[in-house]
Formats: sequence, C-alpha cells, structure tokens
Amino acid sequence: MNIHEYQAKGVLREFGVPVSRGVAIFDASEAEGAARELGGPVWVVKSQIHAGGRGKGSFQGAAPGAKGGVRVSKSAEEVVQNAREMLGQTLVTVQTGPAGKQVNRLYIEEGAQIAAEFYLSMLVDRATGGVAFVVSTEGGMDIEAVAHDSPEKIHTIPVDPATGIQPHHGRAVARALGLSGAQAKQAEALSANLYRAFVEKDMSLLEINPLVLTATGELKCLDAKIAFDGNALYRHPDIVGLRDETEEDAKEIEASKHDLAYIALDGTIGCMVNGAGLAMATLDIIKLYGEEPANFLDVGGGASEEKVTAAFQIITADPNVKGILVNIFGGIMKCDVIARGVIAAVKTVGLSVPLVVRLEGTNVEEGKAIIRGSGLNVIPADDLDDAAQKIVAAVKGA
Ligand code: GDP
Ligand code: MN
Repeated sequence: MNIHEYQAKGVLREFGVPVSRGVAIFDASEAEGAARELGGPVWVVKSQIHAGGRGKGSFQGAAPGAKGGVRVSKSAEEVVQNAREMLGQTLVTVQTGPAGKQVNRLYIEEGAQIAAEFYLSMLVDRATGGVAFVVSTEGGMDIEAVAHDSPEKIHTIPVDPATGIQPHHGRAVARALGLSGAQAKQAEALSANLYRAFVEKDMSLLEINPLVLTATGELKCLDAKIAFDGNALYRHPDIVGLRDETEEDAKEIEASKHDLAYIALDGTIGCMVNGAGLAMATLDIIKLYGEEPANFLDVGGGASEEKVTAAFQIITADPNVKGILVNIFGGIMKCDVIARGVIAAVKTVGLSVPLVVRLEGTNVEEGKAIIRGSGLNVIPADDLDDAAQKIVAAVKGA
C-alpha cells in the first residue's frame, strides 16, 4: 500500500526524522491560511499524487513551458495562485502514464535552501535477505538514469537482520554521501531513525529523493515515498487510515474486500486461477501465445462459491476483458465448487466474451459435468497449453 508524500513525512516525523513544516490542503480556499501559518518567506506548493516525477511533470492543457507539479513560491499570493492552478487539474509525469492523475490534495511546505542534494532509499533486499540502504551523492535527479550511466555512484549498504542497525551502518551511509564531522553525525542518526521507522511500520520501500543538506548545514528529507507491506497492514490501523482509495484501482479495492489476491494488468484476457504460482504460469503462457493478461488473480486454496462468484464479477466488470480463462488445479480447492461458482456468476452477470475453463484435480469429473450440464457456452480445455491456445484463438477471432 502506498501513501502520499505529506503522510509519509508525518510517519517519519514520529521517528525523529528531519522534514520541513507543512500543511496539507484539499481546497484552494485553505491556501492562504496555510501560507500564513507557515510564515514564509519561501514556500513550496507540492501536488500530492501517488507518483513521482512531479517536479518535471506538466498539467494537461497547460501552456508549453508552464510550471510543473512542485512549485517554489515567494509570496502568500503566489502560493494561492499556484494552489488555484494545480488543484483539480491532471498532472502527467513519467510515472503516471499519459492519462496522468488528478491532483486533489496539495502539500504546502516551508521552502528549504538547498546546498546539496542526495539520494537515499531503503528496501527489502532479496540478495542479502534483509533491509538495505541504497544511497548516492547524485540526488534530486532520475536515479534510474544514474544507475544506468554511472552505477559506481550508487552504494548499497545491507543491514543484517540479526544485528539490526549498528553505528557502522550509519558511518557507511555518511561516507557514501561524502559527509564528515557534524553532518556525518546527522547522517548516522538519520540512518538509525529511518531503519527503526522502516522495521516498526513494516515498510517495503522508503525513498528520499532528494535528501538535502541545507544552507545552514542541516540534513533534511525534502521528498518521501513509502510503500507498506500489505500482508502486515492488519497490525497498523494508523497506516490503513492513510489509505487514499481514489489513488487505487477500483477492481483491486473490490477484490481486497473479498480477500482475493487480484492485481489489475493492461491486457485483454481475464484470468481466474488458484495458487499464485499457477496464476503466474498462466500469465506467462498467455503471453507466450501472443496475448496479454488483464489481471493476476489467485482465488486461494479454499475459496467458497461466493468468493469465486465475486472474482468472476470483478473480471467481467473490466471493459478491457475480451476473453476469460479459468485455470484450476483442484488440490484443497475442489473443481465442483469452482464450476458452481462460475455458473452462478455467469447467471448473475451474464457472459458476453468467450470463456475457456480448464479443470484438473479433486472432483474434476463432477466439475466438468456441472459445466456441461449448465448449457452455457463454455470452451473446455484439457491442460494449460490447450487452454491458453484456445482462449488466445477465441480472443483473436472475436
Ligand atoms: P518529485 O519531482 O515528484 O520527485 O518531487 P520532489 O518533492 O522531489 O520535488 C522536486 C524538486 O523540487 C526537488 O528535487 C527539489 O529540487 C525541488 N524542491 C522541493 N522542495 C524544495 C524546497 O523546499 N526548496 C527548494 N529550493 N527546492 C525544492
Ligand atoms: Mn523526488
């Protein structure tokens, strides 16, 4: 789960991480009050969307050369003007895709004077099986470009989960950023506080770009992006409270209500599968035969008929879906339950696209009989290969 920058800074502030003072607003009428409260003389008006690249982004319909989604403002009037120009508009950045994202919230911050910009992120590193810091002196810019053009400027500092964060990790971060003296001390404290925040809040990603050194010699997090581990959200009601459903895919929200592991994708073939591994294999084989999957969906091991119906409804509600592939290996899951769920769903929502069903495993004969007896226009398939070829052919023929 992702949150907005201003919310991320709120979380980090609780852990003693240095961030600027700021006020989030939802309406341009709140801009002047926010500017007065912060006092100036420089403010930054920042679009709050779940995507980066806002500074270099542009608003749809704006004149060429118009300012982006992060604007340094020199007076309260300018803050108000910028708020009016940004709220309700659609911001397009390298991360939003061409459709862009509507800006419904702004964060107004006191402006910082920047002496140097760094990059600092933390992630769960599969290579070392722990949390790692990734830092670079090349902050404020596109880190992917730095990774591509000058990978030696990016330093990875893994933390052994058995020891947790130690002073030497903080010193390594400071050294990688070229800091010494009082600033190195700040970097060490910052590293320890960020690590604590990361672990205690079950983050999966934390990215500060840029981390800056201000003109007065203070380290400060000027931007913050946090992603949380969805499987740990049950123990963080405060984080769940930060959820902005307008930033999420409506189908994914509906799926999460039914405890379905669903991820929306861009293709045309809706998939209903049990087991994450089989679901991944199904996506792969659809691509192998030349089509693109519309979603990842794992209905789980012990799905009920209701859950299957809900899953089927979510798939058919997607206007991009031109065909559906149901691929079930009945182990714990029984094929007749899936068959009944599919029939019930088709009766409720109708079926306007080709449907291929491949069943194998427990109660497979009952399952096939239920589908045959339903009188529905279902294309049966014998194995994964056969199923993928049949649904691709059906979609291409349509
Ligand atoms: P992003 O473009 O979505 O990554 O948004 P950022 O929060 O990183 O802001 C983009 C850029 O705006 C930063 O890299 C900074 O160069 C600049 N910026 C952000 N806050 C301030 C500030 O307080 N003072 C100044 N001078 N520049 C800022
Ligand atoms: Mn940034």
